[in-house]
Amino acid sequence: MSPEEFRRHGRQVVDWIADYMAGIESHPVRSRVGPGEIRDALPAEPPEHGEPFEAVLADLNTILLPGLTHWQHPSFFGYYPSNASGPAILGDLLSSGLGVQGMLWITSPACTELETVVVDWLASLLGLPAHFRTDARGGGVIQDSASSACLVALLAALHRASGGRVARTGIADRYTIYVSSQTHSSLEKAARVAGLGAQGIRVVDVDDRTLAMDPVRLRELIAADRAAGAVPAMVCATVGTTSTAAVDPVPAIGEVCREHGVWLHVDAAYAGVAAVCPEFRRLNDGVAEYADTYSTNPHKWLLTNFDCTVLWTADRAPLLDALSILPEYLRNPASSSGSVVDYRDWQIPLGRRFRALKLWSVIRWYGAEGLRAHIRKGVSLAQDLAARIAADPAFEVHEPHPLGLVCFRPRWPGLSPAAADAATLRLMETLNAGGSLYLTHTTISGRVVLRMAVGSPATEHRHVEQAWDDIRREHQALPIQRVT
Ligand code: PLP
Repeated sequence: MSPEEFRRHGRQVVDWIADYMAGIESHPVRSRVGPGEIRDALPAEPPEHGEPFEAVLADLNTILLPGLTHWQHPSFFGYYPSNASGPAILGDLLSSGLGVQGMLWITSPACTELETVVVDWLASLLGLPAHFRTDARGGGVIQDSASSACLVALLAALHRASGGRVARTGIADRYTIYVSSQTHSSLEKAARVAGLGAQGIRVVDVDDRTLAMDPVRLRELIAADRAAGAVPAMVCATVGTTSTAAVDPVPAIGEVCREHGVWLHVDAAYAGVAAVCPEFRRLNDGVAEYADTYSTNPHKWLLTNFDCTVLWTADRAPLLDALSILPEYLRNPASSSGSVVDYRDWQIPLGRRFRALKLWSVIRWYGAEGLRAHIRKGVSLAQDLAARIAADPAFEVHEPHPLGLVCFRPRWPGLSPAAADAATLRLMETLNAGGSLYLTHTTISGRVVLRMAVGSPATEHRHVEQAWDDIRREHQALPIQRVT
């Protein structure tokens, strides 16, 4: 494709995306295709001869679009938001257009140095401690996902807990990590990848009401494991759990970690970015004093297209010692001088995209006040919704719900818990199949609840109001006798 052809098709693509954004409400939120339908509509073999780009766009419209769930739809309330925004898309396009590979400082100094500046900016926007900044002992790095961030944190923690032996001998001791029943599954995956096995994962009880990790049980478990010969390596505290946005008590957990010399990773994938607003800075309680690593996802709720997780460390030395390997073909004078950052040593893969461009574009386009306004809008819409649900005697709301997530369920009087759960799931399926909104569910104390996560930049008051009307209407219309 010549630069002139690129210009022409690039304009078509930008127009296509702008039209998609403008018309997104015309699509059902959740895709309605069945398994295999998209695959069957595509040729089984690749073309022998090149095709015009228009043919790609035509297939996008006719074949792929029906198979998409529209995550940027203003009535998408499932999982957690996965914000996209104009400046982030353009930043990503520039990154693709440049096609640089930022594995080492020397392979594109601007790619590395912009990233350093942008993660330091974000640390300051979120009110994170000064020692997380790259000009101190710590530093931040952009990872593809929170899952990668926790794996990297675990490898650094194992390095420190073993005095560096893990790199030479592998997992020769019984290392343990501590999570709660509410911790994201990526921690279990990280433990598997690191070779700890199922016995290396210790699940700490949570408070029945808040679903936050119980620090007293954590202390008991660590002491018992240590007495039994295990080496407690890392605790993962979550600020904003995946299920209900519960917040673990980081200061109390941090005290336990300090007593036992255990690495504390704070996973704030969803909720951490809310700290751009001073009124949510309490989400950072204990981070400055106790966290060895901390991560949050601008790709969830901070207007930055997937993928963009930022991981900070209080002390980069164990991280770099754990992950740095220097083959001859990567040696260069800048790296040898020790005066530059080589982000390949801060992550699992060698290669890396220029992700800082999209985060930089977002922060510059919105400014701190625009980012705060976005978070405040999501929280305020969610709080309005929670108040409406709480005021309806046919529903109950799970407390607390301080951010953009509201968990609730219909009461279903007269139904057994199992029948009520089946009815709640059926209500959700009816709503999702209708295409006007998209909700997901979880369980709290063994009971099914619906989750409504508000936080898309396109969501306005009318979308939340409409969703609540739809929920009430379908709830009343559901033929529950057939469920019982
Ligand atoms: N941690 C928490 C608390 C999450 O809610 C999620 C995803 O929802 C993750 C980790 C995983 O995020 P990612 O998809 O970036 O790996």
